[in-house]
Amino acid sequence: MFDSIAHTIPDQKLKLNSPIELTIKRLDLVHPQISGNKFFKLKYNLLEAQKLGLKKIITFGGAYSNHIAATAFAAQQFGFESIGIIRGEELVDKPLNHTLLTAQKFSMQLNFISREQYRQKDQTEFLTELNQRFPNSYIIPEGGSNALAIQGCTEILTAADRQNYDVICCAVGTGGTISGLIQASSAHQSVLGFSALKGDFLQAEVEKNTINKNWKILDDYCFGGYAKIQPELLHFIQNFETSYKIPLEHIYTAKMLYGIFDLIQKNYFPAHSRILVIHSGGLQGRISLGE
Ligand SMILES: *Cc1c(COP(=O)(O)O)cnc(C)c1O
Repeated sequence: MFDSIAHTIPDQKLKLNSPIELTIKRLDLVHPQISGNKFFKLKYNLLEAQKLGLKKIITFGGAYSNHIAATAFAAQQFGFESIGIIRGEELVDKPLNHTLLTAQKFSMQLNFISREQYRQKDQTEFLTELNQRFPNSYIIPEGGSNALAIQGCTEILTAADRQNYDVICCAVGTGGTISGLIQASSAHQSVLGFSALKGDFLQAEVEKNTINKNWKILDDYCFGGYAKIQPELLHFIQNFETSYKIPLEHIYTAKMLYGIFDLIQKNYFPAHSRILVIHSGGLQGRISLGE
């Protein structure tokens, strides 16, 4: 499944009124529902679970997690059972949102836990209990970011990408995707991340994963924080989609492209910079703009 995906990702050049060259790598076209970067993050994790002879995949997320939906899909494709530990007990009695319905459609068993319990999700005791409750399981952390995920994300860039571009841009949540891109990038390139949330914890997180220095994460374009919806951003999405016929969502990719356009206008990039933008998908969580 994964190798065939990697070879079908198209690149699309945008027409700009600027000497900057902007190319979008359409990971969103990998699957209509599943975030493209999540496939790369899952690849080596699922291969490892298979090698270990395990039968189930357990992972964690909030109700809007693209990672939850992607894991459900990929686990099913690989013949694993999947279990999603979802933050928020109160959701048990509510109708499932689109993300959780998607996960359920791909046979994920959803377990809702309190926010308090959820905070223990990385602690040994909690994980041991999970393993006892669901034997033969492989556990993937929240957002899917671990060493094997980063290894998978190095494969987002092709050999040509490492030659033909000066800057690589991506949206940042937990920092796994950008860590892989940094590892894969050439020394003459820089990697620029646009954070979907406020905070500089990401800086330290990514520093743990790489010794390279050719990168930067900006949180100037997070629009108030994770999954916040602001009219200016929705307006940008509508304009962008009309101009370029490329769909965006408000949590990750729209913030990144808003930021890139703003930086281009402020002459942040040297003239004639060749920029490769990773469109990481996320369209299953796309809100209706009233069209
Ligand atoms: C998960 C996700 C990201 C962030 O990836 P991280 O590896 O967590 O930084 C970016 N864009 C989309 C569409 C996503 O679903």
